[in-house]
Amino acid sequence: MRTPIIAGNWKMFKTAAEANAFFAEVKGKAEVEGVESVICGPFTTLPALTEAAKGTAIAIGAQNVHFADNGAYTGEISGGMLQELGVSYVIIGHSERRAYFAETDEIVNQKVHAAFRHELKPIVCVGEQLEEREAGKTKDICTTQTTAAFAGLSAEQAAQVVIAYEPIWAIGTGKSSTAADAEDVIAAIREVVAGLYDQATADAVRIQYGGSVKPANIAEYMSQPNIDGALVGGASLEPASYIALIEGA
Ligand code: PGA
Repeated sequence: MRTPIIAGNWKMFKTAAEANAFFAEVKGKAEVEGVESVICGPFTTLPALTEAAKGTAIAIGAQNVHFADNGAYTGEISGGMLQELGVSYVIIGHSERRAYFAETDEIVNQKVHAAFRHELKPIVCVGEQLEEREAGKTKDICTTQTTAAFAGLSAEQAAQVVIAYEPIWAIGTGKSSTAADAEDVIAAIREVVAGLYDQATADAVRIQYGGSVKPANIAEYMSQPNIDGALVGGASLEPASYIALIEGA
């Protein structure tokens, strides 16, 4: 069966010193048998985090990666640079990157391939805006984004992708999707993967819910058959809250 995965997305919060202090507090606690625990910090925290995570069950992720392996891309970070540090996951296509950094479905797909070239497991974000939900387009949007993200992946690669379904109106707003609504969309996304590959691949893919997840509501999401974890922003920033999320999962 699928191992649940909780990933903290720190976004543009925490210096390396703050990341070290956080890790010292969660070490040995945000490590629970049967739940994968991943911390996705800003690039500058990754050397400290990967060093601190050695010998622990906590995995470290980045929040972005460039699609090229090297080249004249001022200010960018490649998959090889992350791999060298011992980073194991990378968030790709977060709605904030799609909105503020013009990441298209095509770029997301190129980044997914870049991740696989460097043994990084992608956490691919999909999700609809409020107007799209109100227009009944949620599943269409998720189908388009998922299909584009998986283009050119083998079934073996596809099975390793983590999808994070994040309704954009629920991110950082305190307005979370109900567990039943999230389950409905996530089950539909799993069907999309089954259509692209086969049922075995769809059954292997882990799909998280994201959007105002906190210790108080994590168990409700986790009780849904198709929800395999959460991508958590705000509630992943405090050690006690992060530990409670892992325990709640
Ligand atoms: P939030 O963010 O938990 O603060 O809503 C989730 C995300 O953006 O991944």
